[in-house]
Amino acid sequence: MTGLMSGKRGLIMGVANDHSIAWGIASQLAKQGAELAFTYQGDAFGRRVRPLAEKVGSSIVLPCDVEDVSTVDAVFDALKEQWGSLDFVVHAIGFSDKNELKGRYADTTRENFSRTMVISCFSFTEVARRATELMTSGGSMLTLTYAGSIRVMPNYNVMGVAKAALESSVRYLAGDFGPQNIRVNAISAGPVRTLAGAGIADARLMLNFQHRNAPLRRTVTIDEVGGAAVYLLSDLSSGVTGEVHFVDSGYSIMSMPRVEELKA
Ligand code: NAD
Repeated sequence: MTGLMSGKRGLIMGVANDHSIAWGIASQLAKQGAELAFTYQGDAFGRRVRPLAEKVGSSIVLPCDVEDVSTVDAVFDALKEQWGSLDFVVHAIGFSDKNELKGRYADTTRENFSRTMVISCFSFTEVARRATELMTSGGSMLTLTYAGSIRVMPNYNVMGVAKAALESSVRYLAGDFGPQNIRVNAISAGPVRTLAGAGIADARLMLNFQHRNAPLRRTVTIDEVGGAAVYLLSDLSSGVTGEVHFVDSGYSIMSMPRVEELKA
């Protein structure tokens, strides 16, 4: 199937390199005919993102650090000038101090709690509000979350709390923007080896555990997350908003490890 996104223009935020979940999403969207713009955080990522953007025929590549609101404004000003309107936004941005992605959640500092919440949660609300101004004929927004929002995952700590707030903001934003036919959803992805994922202590152990214990007996690829994103950003999901959709090889339905694992 091709052409599901033909005639649609969207912004992709959160590509760091070709392992990023945002890149998996962007490449699937491009295959379906979407026209894309990209943001990057800082010059070092910019040097990686530009050639990737070129691969999918995109010439709009803009700097954006969500801690600096003027750069967020500049992105939407540029899109208004170059495109005039927008059909979708992908927000795949998360950050927390890696010194606090280990040990106890209880030891989270006030400073890192606030920073994690602003970058990993509030930035979606801030981006969403600006995006709606360009979504004159409806639209679809997507953010990325993880099951550490609803269950205690070792070392995920303050990121889990930020993802819980992010998922709640998906529902509130869906309520706010529904009357404008703008839909807001999240994908809860299973663990993927990325730069952000590597910041979590023992990430490799968690990934291997999910690989062995998920119903599909594997972890997911960024292309599989991209496939689900195409559904949520295209008209195929026109009746779906405020949802958190799991793309995790089924891991979230399990109550305990496989019996073979327990006996080992
Ligand atoms: P990644 O490192 O490839 O992407 C994270 C992105 O966040 C980077 O592009 C980085 O530049 C951006 N970012 C961080 N701080 C920023 C800031 N201040 N301003 C602008 N951008 C900023 O890692 P990823 O795993 O692809 O992460 C994308 C999203 O997916 C994150 O929200 C992450 O929490 C989520 N997620 C990841 C996994 C996983 O296992 N990797 C699982 C579920 C959800």
